[in-house]
Amino acid sequence: MKNIVILGSTGSIGTQTLDVVDKEGDIRVLAMTAHSNIDLLERQIRKYRPRAVSVNLPEKAAELRVRVADTGTRVFSGPDGVVECAAMPGADMVVTAIVGIAGLDATIAAIEAGKDIALANKETLVTAGDIVMPLAEKRGVNIVPVDSEHSAIFQSISNQRKFLKRIIITASGGPFFGMSRHELAGKTRFDALKHPNWTMGAKITVDSATLVNKGLEIIEARHLFGLDVDSITPVVHRESVIHSMVEFTDGSVIGQLGVPDMRLPIAYALTYPLRRGPVSEPLDLVKIGRLTFYDIDHDTFPAVNLAKKAAKTGGTMPAVLNGANEEAVAAFLRDGCGFLEITELIQRAMEAHRPVMEPTVEDIKAADAEAREVVRASLNK
Ligand code: NAD
Ligand code: MG
Repeated sequence: MKNIVILGSTGSIGTQTLDVVDKEGDIRVLAMTAHSNIDLLERQIRKYRPRAVSVNLPEKAAELRVRVADTGTRVFSGPDGVVECAAMPGADMVVTAIVGIAGLDATIAAIEAGKDIALANKETLVTAGDIVMPLAEKRGVNIVPVDSEHSAIFQSISNQRKFLKRIIITASGGPFFGMSRHELAGKTRFDALKHPNWTMGAKITVDSATLVNKGLEIIEARHLFGLDVDSITPVVHRESVIHSMVEFTDGSVIGQLGVPDMRLPIAYALTYPLRRGPVSEPLDLVKIGRLTFYDIDHDTFPAVNLAKKAAKTGGTMPAVLNGANEEAVAAFLRDGCGFLEITELIQRAMEAHRPVMEPTVEDIKAADAEAREVVRASLNK
């Protein structure tokens, strides 16, 4: 029996993790957290009977406490409640499926408590990879990636890390692949939320349309696998069948293939180093017929280069890239900014920032807050 905690159980990754739990049969959910969706969380409590849950909004937590009084599940609230769940005694692994830098403190708390991490929350490594990776090493904690690209890279490297030369990270290209900046200018949240291959939370779906997601993933890969960002090559692969590849010193390239279904990398992270029964449809290459590859159009989608620049500057700069993006995407999702403005706002926040080198978590949060302020001020002009 493996005991897990799911941070963000009501989201896209959270609910798919519970799907995998249903299929595996020998995984127990000790705690779960959500931002505000207490209807779904109540159903999850009744089905999985966790020891504790946490709801971010205190008034929603109070309501849920009354509703589930008969179950014996404790209901915490706020950021402290999430940390309480993340460090739950008896848990072997914590699935970090909260979106955004909001997941940082809980991930650190879980590592401090010695829990292995199934890492979906890429913003944790983007903003604080230089703190989180050494901490995991110190605590002897495994960080197993859930992001499909990083799971593919992790699986492809296997035990050959010392021969790793380059990572080829694939990108679907998103819904706006092949379009000009002129065409992108008028795109709304309705257009951006139509992803060709994956159904995901709103924020990461917009990130996939701007290619900020690929930029964040390059920084995530840099921390997970220890290569500099120039040794991580993004390539557009429209079919999302090859989830990423690695090139070894001898020129051999190894990749991992599968249908685009997040339950595959989630199950891999939960059962690693084992592999168990199928969790998704089999891959039918003949039906797919062709696999295609293209360069990224960096003039139209500047996000990847912005991310590489932030990574090379280091210190608090990646946190500024991330914070500005979170704020701009939130504005875009309420029709408060245009599609092309998202990357322009990120650039503006990066230009305004004087990076702090070797930052503490507090420095990182201050940089995040500063970036958000730059974005809000620009949008209010
Ligand atoms: P989502 O929006 O569907 O779900 C987010 C979850 O986090 C929800 O349970 C929500 O209640 C919770 N949450 C949101 N804000 C919170 C806050 N301030 N405090 C506490 N909890 C909060 O997002 P998602 O698509 O499941 O993505 C989750 C993470 O996984 C993101 O970091 C994303 O980049 C990463 N990821 C997702 C996918 C995917 O297919 N969805 C793939 C790869 C990586
Ligand atoms: Mg991904």
